[in-house]
Amino acid sequence: MMYDAIVIGAGPSGSSVALALSGQGRAVAIVERSEFPRRKVCGEFMSAVNLDLLDKLGGGAVVRAKAGPEVKRVALFASGPSTDAGMPRAAGDAFGRALGRDVLDGILLDAARDAGADVFQPWRAAEITTDGDNAMVRIESKHVQGVLVAPVVIAAHGSWEQGRLPTNLPKTNAPHDLFGFKAHFTGAELDRDLMPLLAFPGGYGGMVWADRNRMSLSCCIRRDVSIRLREKGNASSAAQAVHAHILASCPRVASMIVNATLHGEWLAAGPMRPGIRPRFADDIFRVGNLAGESHPIIAEGISMALQSGWLLANELARFDRWDRAARIAVGRRYSKAWNRQFATRIRVAALLARLASHPMSAAAVNTFVSGFPNSLTLGARLTGKTKLLPIACD
Ligand SMILES: Cc1cc2nc3c(=O)[nH]c(=O)nc-3n(C[C@H](O)[C@H](O)[C@H](O)COP(=O)(O)OP(=O)(O)OC[C@H]3O[C@@H](n4cnc5c(N)ncnc54)[C@H](O)[C@@H]3O)c2cc1C
Repeated sequence: MMYDAIVIGAGPSGSSVALALSGQGRAVAIVERSEFPRRKVCGEFMSAVNLDLLDKLGGGAVVRAKAGPEVKRVALFASGPSTDAGMPRAAGDAFGRALGRDVLDGILLDAARDAGADVFQPWRAAEITTDGDNAMVRIESKHVQGVLVAPVVIAAHGSWEQGRLPTNLPKTNAPHDLFGFKAHFTGAELDRDLMPLLAFPGGYGGMVWADRNRMSLSCCIRRDVSIRLREKGNASSAAQAVHAHILASCPRVASMIVNATLHGEWLAAGPMRPGIRPRFADDIFRVGNLAGESHPIIAEGISMALQSGWLLANELARFDRWDRAARIAVGRRYSKAWNRQFATRIRVAALLARLASHPMSAAAVNTFVSGFPNSLTLGARLTGKTKLLPIACD
C-alpha cells in the first residue's frame, strides 16, 4: 500500500505527527504494536502549552474534559522537611494537568484516525528498506504480514523497547542504567493542585493527580541500587523494593499514601535512554523519545513527543513533493528547530537528576530550596513548562 508517510509507533509523538500530516491532506499510515487502552510507565503530567497544541491538532477538548486538576504548585519531597512554590503560569491555559496514558494515547490515536490516517493496530513494524525514492516498511500482525510504501518514514517507537529496526537503540547493561516504575493509587492524601518531585538515594520520582481520581506515582532508579534493595529487603519484585525504598526515604510520601489503595499493578520499563540523538539519519525521521529524551525528573517527555511531531510536520509542509533532496532539507531544518526547542531542558534535566539522586547533593538542594522556594518555580520555567512552540507554517 502506498502512502505519503508511514509513522511507526502511536505514543504521543507518533499520533501528533500523524495528526498534523493528515491535517495537511497527506496520506498517512500509523503502525502500533500494542492494543489500546494500555497503561504505560509515565508520570502522565502534561505542561499547559500542549493543550493549545492539541487544540490545533485535534483532541484538545476531550483531553481537557478528561484530565485531572490543574497543577498550580510544585514541591520537593526529600528526606527532610518539604517545600513548595507556585508553578509558573503559561499563556493560554495557565497550568498543566495529568491524564492517564491509557486514556491520552487512545484519544490522540482516535483523533489521527478521524483526521484520515490509516491505523494498523496491533501491527508491529519489523523491517525498513529503501530504494532511494521510497521506503518499504514490513509490518506483521499475529499471522499476517504486509508491506507499506512511502517516501517518508517517521520512527516514533520510543527508546526503551528492543527490536531489529535500524532505528532501535543498541542494548545497554551498565550499573548506572535507570529503570522506570509507575503505579496508580486511589485515596491518596496529596493536595490536588500539587506536583511534588521526590528525591531519594539512587533515583527520583514524582506524584500528581490524573483522571478518575487516580494519583500517579512514577520514579526512576539506578539498576545497581534497585538490585541491592531487592537483595537486602527480600522483596518479591523490583517494584516492591522501590516502593519500600521511597516510603523509607521520603516521609511525606509515606504519610500521603499510607491509606491509599494501589489501583492496578506496578509497571516497570527501561533502561531509560536520556540524551540527544540524530533526528534524521539513514533517510528516516525520528520524533519523541527516539529523537531525544530528557530525564523524566522534569516531566517533559510528553511535551517533547507532541511538539517534536508538530515541528517535523511543519518542516515537511514546506515541500509539496518529498523527494530525497526535500527530505534532506527537512531533516536539517527540523534538527535545528528541535535543538532550539528542547536542548536546554534536556541538559537542565540531566543536572537535576544527578543532584536529586545523590544523598549529599539532595540534602544540599533541599536546604537551598527551603531557603529559596522560588527556585522551584524558576526550575519549572527553565525546564520548558511555559515555553511556547514556534508556529512556522500555519
Ligand atoms: C518514570 C517516568 C515518568 C515519566 N513522567 C512523565 C511525565 O509526568 N510527563 C511527561 O511529559 N513525560 C513523562 N515521562 C516521559 C514520557 O513517558 C515519554 O517521554 C513519552 O512516552 C515518549 O513518547 P513517545 O511517543 O516518544 O514514545 P512512547 O510513548 O514510548 O510510544 C512508543 C509507541 O511505539 C510502539 N512501538 C514500539 N515499537 C514498535 C514497532 N516496532 N512497531 C509498532 N509500534 C511500536 C509502542 O508500543 C508505543 O506505543 C516519564 C517517563 C518515565 C520513565
